[in-house]
Amino acid sequence: MSKGKQFVEKVTAMEEDFAQWYTDVVKQAELVDYGLVRGTMIIKPYGFAIWENIKNELDKKIKETGHSNVAFPVFIPESLLQKEKDHVEGFAPEVAWITHGGDEELAERLAFRPTSEVLFCDYYSKNIHSYRDLPKLYNQWANVVRWEKTTRPFLRSSEFHWQEGHTAHATYEEAAEETDKMLDQYADVIENYMAIPVIKGRKTESEKFAGAEYTITVECMMHDGRALQAGTSHHFGSGFAEAFDITYLDKEGKSQFVHQTSWGFSTRVMGALIMVHGDNRGLVVPPKIAPTQVMIVPIAQHKEGVLDKAYDVRDQLQKIVRVDIDASDNMPGWKFNESEMKGYPIRLELGPKDIEKNQVVLVRRDTGEKEFVAMDQLEKRIAALLDEIQQNLYDTALKHRNEKTHIVKNMDELAHIVEEKPGFMKAMWCGSAECEEKIKEETQVTSRCIPFEQEKVSDTCVCCGNTADTLVYWAKAY
Ligand SMILES: [Zn+2]
Repeated sequence: MSKGKQFVEKVTAMEEDFAQWYTDVVKQAELVDYGLVRGTMIIKPYGFAIWENIKNELDKKIKETGHSNVAFPVFIPESLLQKEKDHVEGFAPEVAWITHGGDEELAERLAFRPTSEVLFCDYYSKNIHSYRDLPKLYNQWANVVRWEKTTRPFLRSSEFHWQEGHTAHATYEEAAEETDKMLDQYADVIENYMAIPVIKGRKTESEKFAGAEYTITVECMMHDGRALQAGTSHHFGSGFAEAFDITYLDKEGKSQFVHQTSWGFSTRVMGALIMVHGDNRGLVVPPKIAPTQVMIVPIAQHKEGVLDKAYDVRDQLQKIVRVDIDASDNMPGWKFNESEMKGYPIRLELGPKDIEKNQVVLVRRDTGEKEFVAMDQLEKRIAALLDEIQQNLYDTALKHRNEKTHIVKNMDELAHIVEEKPGFMKAMWCGSAECEEKIKEETQVTSRCIPFEQEKVSDTCVCCGNTADTLVYWAKAY
């Protein structure tokens, strides 16, 4: 930044235009830039550092639960993609095809992977023979391509980064256990590290993954009341195994189909992070995943001893937190704004007067509260304050979600809520795809999930009025 530029440019107020606010924050907080090809994104150092912190937590859990990381090719031969009918139908409209190698036209088109089920299935069909080969617990961190028509950074992009787990098991029950277990890992990272409360549940038939027996999901609410699906886990039964002939000999020497799962968690969660915690001053990053937890801003840094002291404090804090110092020649006001825009959990101010009093000023990003802390209490206070901020972000998000969750009992109530108080709607559903489709057509609201924690909020379907005993969360979604 040039010295002449005193303040970080303002972002659009979220109450005014939420979509524009989102775009402004993404850009001003230096998370992403647009790629050359429409719908692609360049994840910049700060954006990638946050993603890496999230990713590292999840990767730890993936390994702790017995999975191995692998790397499969980006190319999928067309004939392989065609093997499972529902799967190819689900993904066909979004596949990017490679037709040439150099000047030569390829004998068979290659898809750039939109997801890698078929590659893993092909591999498993050749490498699983006996019950001793099971389970196979593979995961890969990779980029995938889906040719999207409308794109937004993190939320919907033609290329994105994720992990995809692909597992094969001896029995349906084992695969079901795996499906649940991995959804729990997602929920853990999202709730305990990203400070975003989730609703766990099962997708309806029309919303499940193409080719899956069933899909379970974690759904989050954004600041504007819309839902974001933050991670999904799929049980495939033996559907893929039958299409790809993945069999094993059981202990009795009988040939059996394996049962499979897949589960994915992507850079989309960065969108959730921005839209759950962000405010009109920019990004707010929960301490546990913040690349910089404390940013030191020296005041009157040209005065003798100020910078030296600031570096001393940094060296001291480095042992317990991720700390950085802004010793650039920008004015303090600019640095304050920058620090808020980037969402660093704590800003530490230190000037000649503070040095005289042997203290610093700590400013919380989440509440803006300021406090003076004696130098000898600093380490203790910062550790406690980071915990407080982490908890407050979660509590605030949960309170917000509860305030924007409404019970609706018929279509009039549903339409009214959609117009007046956008958020989650809890309503009973008869189970028919027609009702689900009608709700979507009339209100653009989709079923988010059939929550594991069921309640009975009425006796009849919100759409048709017939008897209904399934509670569904509905919302407009990203
Ligand atoms: Zn109905």
